[in-house]
Order: sequence, then structure tokens, then C-alpha cells
Amino acid sequence: MLKLEDKITQVSGIGPALEKKLKRLKIETAKDLLLYFPWYYEDIGQAQPIANLQIGQKAGIVGKIDLISSRRSFKRKLYITEALISDESGTIKAVWFNRKFLKNSLQAGDILSLAGKIEEKNGQLTISSPVYEKINQKKGQIHTAGIVPYYHLTAGLTHKQLRFLIKKIISLANVLDDWLPEDTKKRLNILDKSKAIEKIHFPKNFQELKEAKKRLAFEELFLRQLKSEKVFEKLSLLKANPIAFKEKATKEFVKQLPFTLTAEQKQATWEIIQDIKADKPMIRLLQGDVGSGKTVVAAIALLNLALNNQKSTKSPYQAIFMAPTEILAKQHFHTLQKLFKNWSIKIQLHTRSYKEKNYQSKNELADIIIGTQALLQDKSPVENPSLLIVDEQHRFGVNQRYEIIKKYQETTPHFLSMTATPIPRTLALSIYGHIGLSTIKNLPPGRQEVITKIVEDRDKEKMYQFITKKLEAGDQAFVICPLISPTDKLGARSVEEEIKSLKKIFPQFAIDKLHGKMRSQDKDKAMKKFLDNETKILVSTSVVEVGVDVPNATIMIIEGSERFGLAQLHQFRGRIGRGKKQSYCFLKASAEVKSKALERLEATKKYSKGSELAKEDLKLRGSGEIYGTMQSGFPELKFASLFDLELIKASQIEAKRLIKKDPRLLKSLKYFSDPLID
Ligand code: ADP
Ligand code: MG
Repeated sequence: MLKLEDKITQVSGIGPALEKKLKRLKIETAKDLLLYFPWYYEDIGQAQPIANLQIGQKAGIVGKIDLISSRRSFKRKLYITEALISDESGTIKAVWFNRKFLKNSLQAGDILSLAGKIEEKNGQLTISSPVYEKINQKKGQIHTAGIVPYYHLTAGLTHKQLRFLIKKIISLANVLDDWLPEDTKKRLNILDKSKAIEKIHFPKNFQELKEAKKRLAFEELFLRQLKSEKVFEKLSLLKANPIAFKEKATKEFVKQLPFTLTAEQKQATWEIIQDIKADKPMIRLLQGDVGSGKTVVAAIALLNLALNNQKSTKSPYQAIFMAPTEILAKQHFHTLQKLFKNWSIKIQLHTRSYKEKNYQSKNELADIIIGTQALLQDKSPVENPSLLIVDEQHRFGVNQRYEIIKKYQETTPHFLSMTATPIPRTLALSIYGHIGLSTIKNLPPGRQEVITKIVEDRDKEKMYQFITKKLEAGDQAFVICPLISPTDKLGARSVEEEIKSLKKIFPQFAIDKLHGKMRSQDKDKAMKKFLDNETKILVSTSVVEVGVDVPNATIMIIEGSERFGLAQLHQFRGRIGRGKKQSYCFLKASAEVKSKALERLEATKKYSKGSELAKEDLKLRGSGEIYGTMQSGFPELKFASLFDLELIKASQIEAKRLIKKDPRLLKSLKYFSDPLID
């Protein structure tokens, strides 16, 4: 008897060659095969009498082979197999091309089930290259009638083979663990696991398919809810350092800022302060569109931490503020130094190139350590952070985020994660019930919406004239290029080439460059000169994609803009429009840009808010993949929709009910360590 864990070669008919192909699809055991789900279905319906067939329709028929023969067509170098198939109502011709083996596997008298497009050729009813199967009463049809499943394939493997193999082992579904409680299944009227697996592969109709999907979707959500509860439980046992709210100092700090905090910034700040003053670790996600002012909110949390150290410095609380790029870490370092200039707060920078430097005096520990991933790799200057803030969290890969959590797991700091990726409310609130969510929806007042234009090559003169006027008036410009140097064959603009041509166009303005291959000191210099308005035009790669804040820059040209995704374009554009002045973003695209890319540019032009672009992106992709989530590493749900609020709620209720009934269950669940991902 075949078992779930058995190697796939135990299934009769699977030899080493097939094993190799299946391995490419990550199918190694019988269970893997059983759980290899179709990605689309085609409704062929039930077999129709041949006399009823209509030209142009896709149909299934069942009939007997009256005659079968093969010939070579010399003109078209094709090997043609033709068969006459008949049922009680009529006759149809079936034609296959280059399928030599058919001659041996089919013969007159065989009963066939066929499916394909019905055509008329030379006055004869014809079905071309149909999928077929010999009818075997016991097995029933799986390729040519009803709803037929299609799978993601690999070279040398066919849908037919996969269906055949899965059909062979489908009864294994009965031994799968069905861990959903019986009463839950009854209450929600959902299928047993075995039925669901069977129906997801071989549904008789769409109703069955729907039921199968519902069960599997529910299961996904339910499991996630359990994990979420598990984290809740774990959190309630953990201790973190309570960071007392320094109300007076905080108010002073807020008052001396060069701007007034928006209501949403205040709300977010308040939520964080409430969380960190507890002795349980905070897990909070601060979500706000590019330029919405998240940094200052983080700064207030950091200020409070530092002020908790002012009396006793024996074992101070320390905070880590992590950014995905060195440029951004450096910027945060300067921003905080400026913001905290009236307070004696010790800030240290730790990146790949700055870890040697010591920004703290010898015997003192820094209150705040700002850094990049380098903090994870090296011996950290902080062993016991009390507060951990991760900026632009979507830019850290899944593994990096896992490392961050793992590294600091023992010490359980308060954890604040910041992102501009709009996460659907349903996802954030329901599936990640254990995460506090703060949202800054609106930009600070006085900001003008960036004007975005798509510019073809023939319009560039006009654009340069316009930019000249703006730069003469004191503004600055970013020019984004897809590449550093012109090594690429794809014809994209590089920083080096761009600088050359811009120097000719703008001989009167200082132009500088910035990219990842420059030495760290040179990057700093370039950034500083741009910030101080000594450089007018900064030609850069995507190193400035996130976080960089130069409010006087009002112009952005994105070369080869068709190469960037929507989320990326939005992030780039977020570098301008940060001050009060009107900003302009020029999306340069080649004339022969593909329609999909053009749609992206049009969307970028039309919408200025990340949340609107997210919706648009969803439409353009037309799949379940959500804006930015691929890069941000949110879990992919195979069956559940993040927009199915009803099922999400039901899964939450049922999970809580189960845990209440059997609290030990939580203990047996594997602890999952990254609260923000899986
Ligand atoms: P992001 O949310 O993208 O990280 P930042 O924190 O970098 O945004 O803020 C963008 C710019 O807005 C900064 O120059 C910052 O000083 C400024 N800013 C932040 N809050 C306000 C406010 N309430 N009013 C005006 N300007 C603000
Ligand atoms: Mg930022």
C-alpha cells in the first residue's frame, strides 16, 4: 500500500526520468503529488451527440473508431494521423499532427472520449488535435469530459501525464490528516479534507470546485489564525523593558519642531508610546505613504527611550534603528542628530563602512544605534536592545527579517516596523491579529500633488527647457537611470552616459552622481552636496529609491521608466514633492514601449496615492498578487482571498473557539518566529 511519505518512484509508472521532471516541480513524495494543485480548469462538459456539435465550439464527444490511418504530408513535412469516429448520431473526423505513436496505441474498434475544437474542413466535420482517452469504464474520464484540471508544467511533462498520475493516487486523500474540528466543519458547512482534495483535482462541476476551494481557503486562514493566537500567547509571556512616557520632554520636543505634527502622526505616536510603556513587547506596524512623515514618529519613540536613560546610565536602554541602505541610515543619523540637538542623546552609526568609527565617547554606551544589515552580520554593538525600529521593512528580504527577529528574539525588544506598502486592512487586522497597526493616511498639509508626465524622446527638448527655468529659480533635480555603466545590451540609460549628455545640456549647473558601486565616502559627499544645494542635478540609480529626503528637490526624471514596477515608480516619485513647492516627475519612455508597461506609466501619472496605485496594480496584474507584497514577502495565500472578509472572520472565531476548548493545542503548534511574515 502506498503511503503519503513514500518516494514518488513507488508510484507505479514513475521511473527515474519522470522522477527528475517531477522533482523540478518540487514533487518528491506521493503527498507532494497529491497536493500539487491545478491552476486552472476548463469546462468541457459532458459528451455530446456528434449530430449536435456546432462549428467553433469546444466540445467533448464519445465514439468508436471506425477507421484510423497515418500518412506523411510531404508538402508540409507533417506526419498526419486521421481517424473516423462515430456514435449513434453521426460521424466526425479526428486529426492529429506529428503524433507517431498514435498509430500503435489506437485502433479501429476502440471507444474514445475526445475533446477539442469543432471545425469544418473540406465540408467534413473535424476535431483537430483533440485530447483523447480510451474509455475504461472503471476509471472514468479525466481529460476529456466534465471540468478538466490544468497544472503548471515543466519541460517534457504533460497535463495528461499529471492528471493520470494524480488520479492514480487520489485515494491517498483519505489518509490525510483532517485536523479541522468536526463541529467547525458542520457549522460552516465545509467539506472534509479528503473530499476537498479529490474535488480540487477532479471536480464534477463548478459547485464542487467552489466547495473544495472554500474548504482549502478556510484551512489556510484557520491555520494562520492559530499561529497568530500562538504569537499572542507567546507575547503575553515575554517581558520587555518598559519605556516610561516622558510627557513633558515629548511635548517640548514636538513644540520646537519646524512643523506641526498632523493628527495622524500624533495618533500613531500615541499608540506607540502606549505600547512601549508596558512590560510586554510591542509589535507594531507603522504604515504611511511615501513622504507622510514616519521618521519623526519613530524619533519620538527613540527620544522617550533615550530620556529613560538620563538618570542612571549603568545599564541604559538602547535602541536600534535599522534601514535597508547605507545612504538612508546615514540620512537618519543626520536627521536625528538635528532633531535631538537640544538634548544630550548619544547616537551611533553602524554600517558596513562606518562600524570602525566611534561616534560615542569611550565609556558611554550609545542610546541609539542606527545601522544597516551590517548590524546583523557583525558582532552587534548592542546585545540587548529595548527598542527595535526597522524602516522600509519591505526592502528587507524575508530571510533578513527572519534574522532580525531571531537575533533579538531572546531579548524581546519593543518592535516597530515601518513601511509605505499599503497592506490590505483585512490582512493586517485579521490574519495578523497580533500586530498593532498604525496608519498615516494623509500627507502633511501644504504638500502639492506631484505632476507626472510621460515623456517621449521627441518631447525632451521642451522638458529640458522647463527644467532649466526651475533650476535657475533654485530647485534641484534627481535623474534616475536603470544602470550604472553602459555595459548592458538592452539599451537602457546608464548613469555614466546620462551624466555625459546632461553636462552638454546643462553646462551651467553642477551635476553629480550617486550609485551603489561608489566608495562610501564619495556617496556621502555626493549626498551632502546635493542636500546643501551645491549640486543641482543628481544622477542616480535605484539607491535613492527609498527614504531619501531632500525637500528642495522638485524635479525627477526617470529614464527607462518602463523597466520599473508600479511600487518602485511610486517610491522614486516619493523623493520629490516633500516640500511646499510644486514638484514634477517625468517618466521617460521609449516610443516602442509595450502596452503593459505603458499602462503602468499611465497609472503612475493618474494616481498619486500608494493605496490607489495598489488597486490599479492589482487590476493590471489581474492575479491574486498584491501590490508590493511580492517584494515585501507577505505570505502568499493559495486559496484564500484577502478580500474575503467573511471567511477571515469565521476563521478567527473558529480558531479562538478551538483554543478555548483545548489550550494545549497551542503548545503543540510550531512556534513561528517572524510575526510579520509567515
Ligand atoms: P516617510 O514617511 O516617507 O519616511 P519622512 O519621515 O522622511 O517621510 O518625512 C518626509 C518629509 O516631511 C521630511 O522632510 C519631514 O521633515 C517632513 N515632515 C514630517 N512631518 C511633517 C509635518 N507634520 N508637516 C510638515 N512636514 C513634515
Ligand atoms: Mg522614510
